[in-house]
Amino acid sequence: MTRWGWCKVYNSALVSYNFCGVIMAILPIRVFPDPILKQKSKRVRTIDGSVQRLIGSMIETLHYIHAAGLAAPQVGFPLRIIVVGIPEKGDIVLINPEVVRRKGECLVDEGCLSVPDYRGEIMRAEAVTVKGRDQNWKEIRIKADGLLAQALQHEIDHLKGILYIDHPETKIYKIEPGEAEL
Ligand SMILES: [Zn+2]
Repeated sequence: MTRWGWCKVYNSALVSYNFCGVIMAILPIRVFPDPILKQKSKRVRTIDGSVQRLIGSMIETLHYIHAAGLAAPQVGFPLRIIVVGIPEKGDIVLINPEVVRRKGECLVDEGCLSVPDYRGEIMRAEAVTVKGRDQNWKEIRIKADGLLAQALQHEIDHLKGILYIDHPETKIYKIEPGEAEL
C-alpha cells in the first residue's frame, strides 16, 4: 500500500509525492472518439522510472475518479499496462497482461470512463485466468471471477484498441451524466 506525502496544485495538474519521492499526477482521461483508444498498445520491455511514474499516476487517477479499472491508453500512453481496483481485492497492476483461460459466459452491465453517459449489456467470460507482470516485474497469474474477471477483460480489451461498445452484441443505453461507470 502506498502512503502519500503531501499534495499541491502544480501546472494545473494535481501532483503528489509518495514517500519514495516519486512524482504522481492525476491524468486526464481520453474520451471516445479519441484515436488513441483504437490503437493497439505496445508491450512494455522493461520497468524503468518512466513506467513506474506512469503506474503510480494511473493508481492515483483510479482512486481520484473512483473507477474500477484503468488502461494506459485511456490516459494517453499506448502501453500494455492496466490497473484494477476492486473493493476487498486491493489495487492490481498488470503489465503485458494476457487472458490465458476463459470459463463460462455471463451477461453483465458495464460502462467505461472513455465513453461517458452510456452503459451497455455485454457477454463476458464468467471466470478468467490472466497472466502478466506486476510493478516489480515479477510474473503473476490471477484467477478471477465476478467483477474482477469483468474488469480484467474490459481493461485488457482497451490494450487491443477495443471498447465495450465495439462488441457487436452489446446493447448500449444512455445514462444520466455522472452515474457510476466501470
Ligand atoms: Zn473502459
